[in-house]
Amino acid sequence: KNVKVIEEGSAKIKTAGNVFYNPVQEFNRDLSVLVLQTFSKTFERSNLSILEALSATGLRSIRYAKEIEAVEKIVANDISIKAVQDIKVNIDENGVSDIVQANQSDATMFMYENRRKQFDAIDLDPYGCPSIFLDGAVQAVKDGGLLLVTATDMAVLAGNSPETCYAKYGSVSLKTRSCHEMALRILLQSIESHANRYGRYIQPLLSISADFYVRVFVRVFSGAQKCKYTTSKLSMVYHCTGCDSTNLQPLGILKKNDKKNNHQVKFALPTGPFTASVCLNCKHPLHMGGPIWSAPLHDKEFIRNLLDGASDKLGTFERIWGVLNVIGEELEDSPLYYTLEKLAGTLHCETPPLLAIRSAIMNAGYRVSATHMHKTSIKTDAPSNVVWDIMRCW
Ligand code: SAM
Repeated sequence: KNVKVIEEGSAKIKTAGNVFYNPVQEFNRDLSVLVLQTFSKTFERSNLSILEALSATGLRSIRYAKEIEAVEKIVANDISIKAVQDIKVNIDENGVSDIVQANQSDATMFMYENRRKQFDAIDLDPYGCPSIFLDGAVQAVKDGGLLLVTATDMAVLAGNSPETCYAKYGSVSLKTRSCHEMALRILLQSIESHANRYGRYIQPLLSISADFYVRVFVRVFSGAQKCKYTTSKLSMVYHCTGCDSTNLQPLGILKKNDKKNNHQVKFALPTGPFTASVCLNCKHPLHMGGPIWSAPLHDKEFIRNLLDGASDKLGTFERIWGVLNVIGEELEDSPLYYTLEKLAGTLHCETPPLLAIRSAIMNAGYRVSATHMHKTSIKTDAPSNVVWDIMRCW
């Protein structure tokens, strides 16, 4: 009698209540449907095989089966017997038993066992941190295939416990104004690092910070030679404990090797402001965090394809439309961002209108954009002293 019936997208599912279901994650599931649909169209991949490694009620897999044309086979896996019982009932009631197959396994074991067979897409939506699943996932996805990864341990990723973040993700998190972007970039570097161990590397298509979690959609490719470029996609972060400014130090720099007509990674030695142990702006000590992913978070052409393909039938269409439009405008090559309140707080000045500050930065000859990660965010290629001067003169 405690059975709950949930309708979302084209799926109608039942759960006894002791299997995980979070209605707030509808946005995450809608977006994943759209990304998978667009992935198959953009990269001309048909007969998709998908693994939902941590499926709970099976809702996500059932939606993928009913809402994505190119899908051929889905494995909806969970370690819990109760969850798999729910998944089986829901597969039958939704009439998708020709596509979705329930499976009860530890996801890590299942992915290791499928290293050779491989899937076009693997969805990881765990409680908290996904890191124990990454090693299997980067091996069990096809060349050019898609990983969809959620992390909900935002406190760890956003700098509340940097040592735990290092233990789990191999990166020291920092409590900065742009902690949501740090979280995305730490997750991406962690996936890249797992992929590199197997001669593989990632290409992010879309990276989202929403509500209480981050979610990344990345393609995985094979190519041991290209793994050498990884250091050029990573940076350490120097964060000032006084004025909250951040500076990035790349781990490697890509240089064109004209003779061979290919790229070489040169290792960068610390130069410029980074050799200082205090901030050049305000003379407070610096904290060092990272490494973080400092290459682009999204593939802009893919974002345009997502916008072209977005259907207003999705329950959270308006939010998806809004977020993707902001992402389409985000500056790609300026990692991290300022927030207006934090800037005003640091400088002890009144908070000026966001639009005015953005215009002033542009008038000074720099590029500026918002981000989907924070309402009052300012992403710019202007040096911090320029942003400060503009704020002070306001
Ligand atoms: N993806 C689901 C959705 O969209 O509704 C929610 C998944 S829920 C957050 C996480 C699930 O992972 C739980 O059902 C739990 O039983 C399962 N789980 C935890 N550890 C696991 C493991 N090692 N292998 C497989 N499943 C696991």
